[in-house]
Amino acid sequence: MIAKLTLIGLGLIGSSIARAAKRGGLAGEITGHARTAATRAKALELGFCDRVCESAAEAAAGADLVILCVPVGVCGAVAAEIGPALKPGAIVSDVGSVKVSLIADVAPHLPDCVHFVPAHPIAGTEHSGPESGFAELFDGRWCILTPLAGADAEPVERLQAFWEGLGARIDRMEPAHHDLVLAVTSHVPHVIAYTMVGVADHLRRVTGSEVIKFSAAGFRDFTRIAASDPTMWRDVFLNNRAATLDILGRFTEELFMLQRAIRMGDGDYLHDYFSHTREIRRGIIEAGQDTPAADFGRRGSGGQDPGE
Ligand code: NAP
Repeated sequence: MIAKLTLIGLGLIGSSIARAAKRGGLAGEITGHARTAATRAKALELGFCDRVCESAAEAAAGADLVILCVPVGVCGAVAAEIGPALKPGAIVSDVGSVKVSLIADVAPHLPDCVHFVPAHPIAGTEHSGPESGFAELFDGRWCILTPLAGADAEPVERLQAFWEGLGARIDRMEPAHHDLVLAVTSHVPHVIAYTMVGVADHLRRVTGSEVIKFSAAGFRDFTRIAASDPTMWRDVFLNNRAATLDILGRFTEELFMLQRAIRMGDGDYLHDYFSHTREIRRGIIEAGQDTPAADFGRRGSGGQDPGE
């Protein structure tokens, strides 16, 4: 379907795209590039790319589809490097977890003769690097396309078909709406997990190993989320600042109301609140976004996080 596919960034997401594209026979040739020689060598050894290049421009030259699979904060610089090497008619896409700032960083560097179609697969794990990718990562997961206003329909359809070939389900959104939705479903939950693990870490110094020893599912899940890649998440918060702060403000207001109810012994308020949140959980299961299994639907302990 794609004669030449190029992946810039060969970590969890880039290597999973390569593996899934090979599984589905979606690309004639797959070329790749990563920043360090160590990752490039590992990619060659693992064999998910046909060719690994020393520079992003060399990898992208002549490609029909180029996907930026690097941290959000470097997408602009990578676009500036590959821009002059791109073939007319090529589709340039990305997998960044933030859209508005990424589009502003990337679009000015791309020539008019290529099609820029931003995308974000809602699939991931807390692991990074080329060894952590796997072909099934996108199976049954959403991939959100955020085409720019006035974008040609054909390249958007082609990218949609490519992601469907990788196993994903597709939705489309305005970039700003994407950033708000992801702030609620992924970015602020990560802030909360990072904070909770920080709080427990301070407490652990008081209570010795008890926090780890009696770590129940709730806290264990926080630690798993808080183990996510520091570079990726630093860039997410720096680039989705407004939506994250908006949702964090709302979160803080709710937290104060719960705090007050606990202080005042307002059991009715707490019971009503928790009954409502339980209904939301039921709705997520009914929508097929998770299962009622005790492991929260992840496959084994190292499986997918549907929220990233
Ligand atoms: P990752 O496993 O850490 O891989 C990042 C890759 O980018 C590495 O191969 C790295 O190369 C390369 N890279 C970094 N800076 C570069 C540069 N300046 N030029 C060329 N290559 C560069 O990260 P990931 O989890 O795949 O995340 C990549 C993107 O996917 C991010 O934008 C993130 O927002 C998005 N995303 C992540 C998830 C998730 O759950 N992880 C989910 C959806 C979307 P080296 O190894 O040589 O440093």
